Amino acid sequence: MKIAVLPGDGIGPEIVAQAVRVLNALGQKFDLEEAPVGGAAYDVAGHPLPPATLELAKKADAILFGAVGDWKYDALARELRPEQAILGLRKHLELFANFRPAICYPELTAASSLKPEIIGGLDILIVRELNGDIYFGQPRGIRSSELPLFKGAREGFDTMHYSEPEVERIGRVAFEAARKRGNKVCSVDKANVLETSQLWREVMIRISKEYPDVELSHMYVDNAAMQLVKAPKAFDVVVTGNLFGDILSDEAAMLTGSIGMLPSASLDKNNKGLYEPSHGSAPDIAGKDIANPLATILSAAMMLRYSLGMPAEADRIEKAVQKVLAQGLRTADIYTEGTQKVSTVQMGDAVVAALS
Ligand code: NAD
Repeated sequence: MKIAVLPGDGIGPEIVAQAVRVLNALGQKFDLEEAPVGGAAYDVAGHPLPPATLELAKKADAILFGAVGDWKYDALARELRPEQAILGLRKHLELFANFRPAICYPELTAASSLKPEIIGGLDILIVRELNGDIYFGQPRGIRSSELPLFKGAREGFDTMHYSEPEVERIGRVAFEAARKRGNKVCSVDKANVLETSQLWREVMIRISKEYPDVELSHMYVDNAAMQLVKAPKAFDVVVTGNLFGDILSDEAAMLTGSIGMLPSASLDKNNKGLYEPSHGSAPDIAGKDIANPLATILSAAMMLRYSLGMPAEADRIEKAVQKVLAQGLRTADIYTEGTQKVSTVQMGDAVVAALS
């Protein structure tokens, strides 16, 4: 199994190092090859996604990704900024399905800003379409306005669109995922206002006929944002487009109170995937050995389950993480009184020890 290891910037190298230790401790043979990405790649190769890194990602069975970005690259042209690496990988590898589970571990209920009875035991999955929508739609740009009231003023414009096959493929991914969980899909759109959403909803209803065992419901995105904080446990799988998914998946992540805990996967049609923590490169805490490596370690578990066909090993990692939490070990971001504060490396040590 070839795994491309792309640590990236900020805390990326620290947290990926712990995930690699955990993978190596499983007693399996993985061919791990590392390459620079993001700002780190710009520094050595002049581009956030150099050809050699892209080639490695293409030939690997899966990609373990840290995070990219740092304020020191803010002045670079947009196409050279670290974040372009992740957009480029998604596009080149056709990673169209983003899985963002939001799980609230019983030991961490106190870290959430919501009441324990609302959040305790939360286990939902946001499935976000990644390759389409207003993020990639053409035309886009800044032009001179033709609106009578603002004629001649500068205006920004973007184009939202989804084709039927794009909606079908993300819909199927969500229905299949629901079959392995609670058999419920909630499709989130803005069909009362947007034509794109009307088509989205029609297609979801049509393909739902192929999954009679899965209950389909629909929700407007504004209501979904409310329901996620009011009664998040009512959801099972939420499927939505790129823009709405970007916002809702971060909201769902923060419900659990600990962005350092949440893994994610971005998959292509053959289940090859890129696995990364849901958080960014956290430049404010980089190099201090205080970042939480658990989201990256849990991303490695998702990689074993979805891309490498090793569910038993994925279970082992997830159980080891639960064990260290039950032991009361916490990095600074999830520390509460009465628990034991540990560093990034110590958390990695504990997970490796818990594996056996
Ligand atoms: P961030 O997720 O990096 O950090 C937000 C806050 O959460 C910070 O206070 C940070 O210290 C904390 N945090 C994040 N991960 C943590 C962890 N594992 N353990 C403990 N605390 C953690 O978001 P941001 O500050 O908005 O962005 C920082 C940089 O990351 C930017 O350059 C942004 O573009 C980039 N970014 C990259 C990705 C990616 O690589 N996929 C995603 C989001 C943001």
